[in-house]
Amino acid sequence: MEPADHRVDVAVELPKHGGLADLLSYTHPAAVEPGRLVQVPLGKRLVRAVAWDASPPEPHGMALRAVASVAQSVPPLSPAWRRLVAFAAAYYQRSLGELALSALPPRLRQLDDTQLARLTTKLAAARAASATKAAASAATGTTNTADAPPEFQAEASPTLTSEQHHAVQAILAHGGATLLFGATGSGKTEVYLQAAQAVLDRGRQVLVLVPEINLTPQLESRLAARFAAHGLTTLHSALTPAQRLKHWMAAHLGHARVVLGTRLAVFASMPELGLIVVDEEHDPSFKQQEGARYSARDLAVYRGQSESLPVVLGSATPSLESWRRAQEGRYQRVDMPERVGGARWPKVRLLDMNKIPREVQRQHALAPPLMDALRACRARGEQSLVLLNRRGYAPVLHCKSCAWKSDCPHCSAWRVFHKIDRSLRCHHCGLATRVPKACPSCGDMDIEPMGRGTQKLEEQLTLALPGARIKRIDADSVRGKGALESSLSAVHEGDVDVLVGTQMVAKGHDFRRMGLVAVIDADGSLFTSDFRAPERLFALLMQAAGRAGRDATLDAARDEASELWVQTWHPTHPVFEALKAHDFEAFAATQLAQRQLAGLPPWTSLALLRADAKSADVAEAFLQAASQAALGLPECEGVTIYPAVPLHVSKVADVERMQMLVESPSRIALQRLLAAWHAPLQALRGQHKGLLRFALDVDPLQI
Ligand SMILES: [Zn+2]
Ligand SMILES: [Zn+2]
Repeated sequence: MEPADHRVDVAVELPKHGGLADLLSYTHPAAVEPGRLVQVPLGKRLVRAVAWDASPPEPHGMALRAVASVAQSVPPLSPAWRRLVAFAAAYYQRSLGELALSALPPRLRQLDDTQLARLTTKLAAARAASATKAAASAATGTTNTADAPPEFQAEASPTLTSEQHHAVQAILAHGGATLLFGATGSGKTEVYLQAAQAVLDRGRQVLVLVPEINLTPQLESRLAARFAAHGLTTLHSALTPAQRLKHWMAAHLGHARVVLGTRLAVFASMPELGLIVVDEEHDPSFKQQEGARYSARDLAVYRGQSESLPVVLGSATPSLESWRRAQEGRYQRVDMPERVGGARWPKVRLLDMNKIPREVQRQHALAPPLMDALRACRARGEQSLVLLNRRGYAPVLHCKSCAWKSDCPHCSAWRVFHKIDRSLRCHHCGLATRVPKACPSCGDMDIEPMGRGTQKLEEQLTLALPGARIKRIDADSVRGKGALESSLSAVHEGDVDVLVGTQMVAKGHDFRRMGLVAVIDADGSLFTSDFRAPERLFALLMQAAGRAGRDATLDAARDEASELWVQTWHPTHPVFEALKAHDFEAFAATQLAQRQLAGLPPWTSLALLRADAKSADVAEAFLQAASQAALGLPECEGVTIYPAVPLHVSKVADVERMQMLVESPSRIALQRLLAAWHAPLQALRGQHKGLLRFALDVDPLQI
């Protein structure tokens, strides 16, 4: 290091578990502003890095390498952005460099600084051109909506109900996190839009996070309709790398004033951020399930605190974690119980399957009373929706002679029968083969499907309702580009009488003429080991209920409200009692009381240590050694470590998977242990031959 040189500490993505520190030091002839994108040599490669806050210089004997270049064309990432990344890295037990680089668009890492400079020049020129065009069209009196397509011409804001007006005021006045507890159809979206408008008017940016963009095209089109002139951009994993970089840059440079995105967008660089909206905050897809297993909802709340800006968490069925925080006064709670336009709640009908003869159940997925209701609904010219959360034709094929079942040779799971292409498909590892002509075990020709999925349901309904237009929407039917959009628009246009689908159609779609919604096999999940199963089922059923009868004119035309039918073997379960009463608060109260007794979140904090290995023995031995290592640490005080257990599907693609639960009533105690555990865990890795990987999941959602 020459005496005149400056030391630069950078966050860089290191080869996995290289045992290196979070930041690496380099030199540069001039001081480098923290937050600048730089390129540095690492081994023989040149890699992307982010200049971090410089720590006080310390004398060291090692010769530091020089920074290769500094991307002067791109403004530095803000201190708030770096705080968010540093917090997430520490909380979710990942290295700072890994998190910082994974929070940036992948293409940004591939381009060198010259290419980046070219891109920013291009973006600035495009922006200037569109501003000129907008000014010209304003001068000639034509509508000013920049490059917006005609259907996205700016729309006027509708008048709010007093409930909505109060919600907007409360969100903006509070400044912290607000739990917006609003019934399905209560007009939460309009509250988001008007709060966003107020923030945009103050010259700030708005971030809107949604579980999955493709499943809620309506929110995107409403945002686009309202804010096209402000510059709206999207950030999600379905964008091409080039698009993602362009959209990220638009937010970072401040060109885009509204960013709509999925969980990864919580890390969007928005220097003038003024509001964060998390829609459907209870949705599990806000939790990343690999790499840094962060919760975008929780990070949004952190980001709001760190940048002193309001955060809205909206849901008709809030997560019990958020609900509890509102009870503790850490979040402000705003209720919107009324459905806009006076649409009534559907009448809930529980169909007790214990009373339906077995023979009848075998013949048809829908019990006779439900089938009658479906026919009546069709006779009235209304649409209906039948939900079954299992795709494929049948979950398993079996042989009547020898009891062979279509198991997957690589997973501890069945291969699902897909009748359309006569294939057996493993939904875990993707293995797909032709259906065998005879039983592979005994040669008998008599192999047949057991149970039913959406394809079989579609087939049965087609036979039972001659002439009805039946459409199926599930992950298999909407593979192609635009397939989901065209299926949904067929439903909206009234070209579909009966819609069959998995829970993906229960989310967010604003169907106007649904007279009946039916949920088949609802309670399959209720008695699994996952303590969140009742919470998820309740959310699904409330969402399903929300799909029925959203149009007040539909109700007015009939004596009765629309109907939600639920086929269940456990009609007295508290989930269904609460559903009948549309009473989330009562449901939350009983669930919270049970969890308090059982010592479960939100009363305690959890982490899972997961191990993947070539054999279950290796995975278990590693977890046992990890447990011993933790128990030897003074930080283990106040933390309980449970024995290792296999995952629900223990083997996937020939990898054995086990996990170990770590629990504490104190989040701080748990965090302290996890931090201290890091080094011993890394040291243990090499001692277990056959261990493929391990990962910590902090605040896990799937247990
Ligand atoms: Zn057989
Ligand atoms: Zn498999």
